[in-house]
Amino acid sequence: MPDKKKSNKKFIVVTGGVLSGLGKGVAAASIGNLITNAGLKVVPIKCDGYLNVDPGTMNPTEHGEVFVLDDGGEVDMDFGHYERFLGVTCKFGWSVTMGKVYEQIRVKERRGDYLGKTVQLIPHVTDLIKQIFYDIANQEDADVVIIEIGGTIGDIENELFVEACRQLKRDIGEDKVMYAHLTYIPIPSNVHEQKSKPTQQSVALLRERGIEPNIVIGRCSEYLDEKIKDKISTFCDIEKKAVITGLDVDSVYKIPIIFSEEGINEIIKEKLGINSGVKPEWKQLVGNLAKLDKEVNIAICGKYTKLEDSYASIVEAMRHCSANLKAKIHIKMIDTEKVKNQEDASNLLKGINGVIVPGGFGSRGVEGKIQVIQYCRENNMPFLGICLGLQLATVEFARNVCGLKNANHAEMAPDTKEPVIDILPEQKKITDKGGTMRLGAYPAVMKEKTIIWELYGKQKQVSERHRHRYEVNPEYHKGLLDNGMIFSGMSPDGKLVEFIELPKQKHKYFVGTQAHPELKSKLEKPGPLFYGLIKACIEK
Ligand code: GLN
Repeated sequence: MPDKKKSNKKFIVVTGGVLSGLGKGVAAASIGNLITNAGLKVVPIKCDGYLNVDPGTMNPTEHGEVFVLDDGGEVDMDFGHYERFLGVTCKFGWSVTMGKVYEQIRVKERRGDYLGKTVQLIPHVTDLIKQIFYDIANQEDADVVIIEIGGTIGDIENELFVEACRQLKRDIGEDKVMYAHLTYIPIPSNVHEQKSKPTQQSVALLRERGIEPNIVIGRCSEYLDEKIKDKISTFCDIEKKAVITGLDVDSVYKIPIIFSEEGINEIIKEKLGINSGVKPEWKQLVGNLAKLDKEVNIAICGKYTKLEDSYASIVEAMRHCSANLKAKIHIKMIDTEKVKNQEDASNLLKGINGVIVPGGFGSRGVEGKIQVIQYCRENNMPFLGICLGLQLATVEFARNVCGLKNANHAEMAPDTKEPVIDILPEQKKITDKGGTMRLGAYPAVMKEKTIIWELYGKQKQVSERHRHRYEVNPEYHKGLLDNGMIFSGMSPDGKLVEFIELPKQKHKYFVGTQAHPELKSKLEKPGPLFYGLIKACIEK
């Protein structure tokens, strides 16, 4: 089938070797960033070998944050890097998991698409994978498609993606496909020397699979020296100038600049005939990170505190604020399971200037979060509640301001008599767990003259992304409003509370949203509620 409908677009395939966690997503996004800056349309595709349809059903401590797209797709956190680096709005279809691929193969087989044939991994599955690539490239009218293959070269579960990408060059022509391979260059403490062997072996694995990399990016704690570039060039049969440093950095936004300085633009030009480069505004914002003249301490009070990746987009949103407000932001992760009362909250929040209670599921740590929120409200501590954070701020307010001692969240206490937070009506009948929440972009109509309305630039309506099953129970709206809570943004039908705040006279910054504004925060345009939080911390 792919022979009928190929593509004349250009493709860049990004693979990784040696170790996982080297920042393949950031490397792919950085290459995309440089090409986007030349005015070309870049579309990212991420291939993941797991058999889940999407990561929506995985624990964030297992696979990092679940990123949500405008169209409601739940995808790998690498899509966060793509959107932040490319300025594109990604689509669920650009996330190609083996779960999705096999689902389609099954449907096609039952329909009779392969009638008379034995359905095999090669060519049927690889053809389908290529067809997905070509369809995306053509439908989006992309100039360049960047395909990132998850995992590490040699992983069994990604072999079919690797094979499909190998076939690309034969299908559409060598001049249209470029392969970039990210590896690891260790500097063992006993020799103090950059070592190339893992890279040699990883490139050998790639070549065994019929792929000759055009670029090798060596992740290292130092710039790669001439000697190691020579060595990799010789042993991996690649031009020396195509060996690029993937330097360890404190901010991922530096990576496009480093790739550029290392000469990647020239290689891309030679191989694919397209321009690329760094945008001056980007360089300036990254430059700001070296001139931070204020310090802010932010506590993220959640339960997935072991893996910072669980809150990846919130951490990125903090970096965006950092560059734009020239403030060094220290993040402290607080495990709210340890917070039993106001004294604990006060002790744990010593030296903290502002608090974020992020999204979450399940009852673990919830009462501790409510204690933290009470502490923030009563002590004028800048506070931002995100999704579950808004819901728990509402429970706290109902209990301690409205006097509803038994107010609770129906997810945590299904039999509660006072379900201030209740399940969305349309969610009641749903039993399947995958892809069934209230997902994706929804508009909210803003209340004029509120803090949030001002932060969003006084727009009548704003759009943010959602991922939840529960909401502020409409039966309690009046009571909350009568006691002084402000609903700063509602769904257009007036039923769902999307943004809340407390009056400026009462509290300098007490704000919550049912959405996940971290998902749309960008270096060039930080999420307004994060910006407002950090500004409130600085202004004190
Ligand atoms: N568990 C809550 C709900 O489903 C909050 C979800 C979230 O924070 N993303 O509504």
